Amino acid sequence: MLLLNTKEDYHIHCNYNDHSSFDLTVDNIIKKAKEKNLQTIAFTEHVRKSSDWTEKYLEEINFFKGKVSFNTLVGFEAKILADGNIDCPDSYLNDKYFVIASFHTKYKDKKQWYDALIKAVQNENVNVIGHLAPEPEFSLTSQEIKNLGEEIVSNDKTIEVNAKYSRPPLEFIKTFKELEIKFHLGSDAHSLDEIGNFDRIKHLIKFIEDTYE
Ligand SMILES: [Zn+2]
Ligand SMILES: [Zn+2]
Repeated sequence: MLLLNTKEDYHIHCNYNDHSSFDLTVDNIIKKAKEKNLQTIAFTEHVRKSSDWTEKYLEEINFFKGKVSFNTLVGFEAKILADGNIDCPDSYLNDKYFVIASFHTKYKDKKQWYDALIKAVQNENVNVIGHLAPEPEFSLTSQEIKNLGEEIVSNDKTIEVNAKYSRPPLEFIKTFKELEIKFHLGSDAHSLDEIGNFDRIKHLIKFIEDTYE
């Protein structure tokens, strides 16, 4: 049986972007993780190639990271661009950093979306695909979901089960489970209360763990 660890949160933002709570500081995130007895947290602030705050962010996390006993991953959430490249400075695209690749723009073009996704899955510096779901304008056939799943398996990527958006869709999860793809949980916290909170995706967790009663 597959189990998801609800004491691990692999997708947390902080106040380095302009749309998270002001009190979502690195220090407060660490305190919250301690309070909730989390075992692993990942700092995954939104990044762009042009971001100029990244060094300060990394320095701050590394300072606090040394003082805690739980596992702290340092990295970024980067947008999957139309050509399938990742909007992240090249200096962070290596195995030192934990990188979530997610769609943040609608391409309104299924082929472009799918090709970009496959390229992101094949990117050796991407660890996880975040909040994966097709755009509302299109859906994937079961064969396309299966092909995507096989690509995820052969590139050894993890699929995030995202609490903010309740994704991926059940039909994706069903196929990915059959292919024994790795899942982990991400709150996608933009405020302190959301850290390690997976109440909104209890149904997805149950579905993955086969614990429906
Ligand atoms: Zn995102
Ligand atoms: Zn996010």
